[in-house]
Amino acid sequence: MENAILVLNAGSSSLKFSVFNLLSEGRLRQSITGQVEGIGTAPHLKVKDGNGQNFIDVHWQTTEVANHAQALQHITHFLHTKLQHRQLLGVGHRVVHGGPDYSAPLLITPAVMIKLDIITPLAPLHNPHNLAAIRAMMQESPVLPQVACFDTAFHRQQDTVAKLFGLPYEYYEHGVQRYGFHGLSYEYIASVLPAEISMGRVIVAHIGSGASLCAIHKGRSVATTMSFTALDGLLMGTRAGSLDPGVILYLLQQQGLSLKQLEDLLYKQSGLLGLSGISNDMRVLLDSDEPRARLAIDYFVYRVSREIGSLAAAMGGVDALVFTAGIGENSPQIRQLICEQATWLGVDFDAAANQAGAACISRADSRVTVWMLPTNEELMIARHTRTLLGL
Ligand code: AMP
Repeated sequence: MENAILVLNAGSSSLKFSVFNLLSEGRLRQSITGQVEGIGTAPHLKVKDGNGQNFIDVHWQTTEVANHAQALQHITHFLHTKLQHRQLLGVGHRVVHGGPDYSAPLLITPAVMIKLDIITPLAPLHNPHNLAAIRAMMQESPVLPQVACFDTAFHRQQDTVAKLFGLPYEYYEHGVQRYGFHGLSYEYIASVLPAEISMGRVIVAHIGSGASLCAIHKGRSVATTMSFTALDGLLMGTRAGSLDPGVILYLLQQQGLSLKQLEDLLYKQSGLLGLSGISNDMRVLLDSDEPRARLAIDYFVYRVSREIGSLAAAMGGVDALVFTAGIGENSPQIRQLICEQATWLGVDFDAAANQAGAACISRADSRVTVWMLPTNEELMIARHTRTLLGL
């Protein structure tokens, strides 16, 4: 019988899952991937096999899958029928925020759950969904070991100076720090870079609907653009990125926005969507002739380019630039626009390799090498789970 690891990634209205078969010599093979989307609104389950072929596509009534626990019941029921010859040995969860203390994945125990509940106010829009999935899994299979893998963990090794805000120091001690996110993606990218590159100074651009950059030196996160929350840094699909805090005061005090309106503005109505007035999807903007679509793209590229300069300064230079995630992996046009702004750093861009979807998209003599590498956060979680459970 083959053994397997289940990976769960819970969002506000979705529950993504992947099954990894444990092969010999510690290798992992993704055999099933799927998600329940529209939890509580228009729930449906889509599942694919390791080759991307569809297994099933089921739609339910809203009341049939009103929460994560019900979604998980459907997933485990499906897996029971599909995994006949495989045995689940553990579950790895993506947990967005690990607070100041968790700098590595860990086995979930009742004591850990209490600590994770205490951290929840640091990530009120994300962690509750992650914890809901853990609790539902504990109910479904109480003896199956579960592992929490944090998006913040990779950045906890940064120097204190990189984690500070200029607020009174007591705030830092009470957890108001730069945490950074997308850590599982950065860790995965660092693990697949050619060895000679990974030992140098690397800037990774994880640009998808959420977007951030990370400076990685000798495999260690040195600085990143997201900070206390996933709102900071670059322009994103619907998030504004870095903002003068005075704007928030003005909106509250002079424009009379409620806290809920402000939260919606910052998380859901800004970014590419807010600037263009058309869409949060880069594909739609690239296809559009509207001047505001162009403006949104220009600002996106400008912000990434400026932050590349900032992260290069944090490392005292840069040897490699890596593009990943939805936009980074799929848009040659955006990669080219960003690279054209980075010639001053020593990027000699190879437009033909970029159009062809090659992994290395800089010319042979480019001082800074440029890469396009698909990320795989699920595989990173499966690797951590395997290691932590000694499988
Ligand atoms: P992610 O959050 O990493 O899944 O990225 C999702 C985003 O990637 C989408 O919202 C699109 O804006 C973007 N994207 C996906 N495919 C393309 C493409 N071919 N060209 C430009 N953007 C793309």
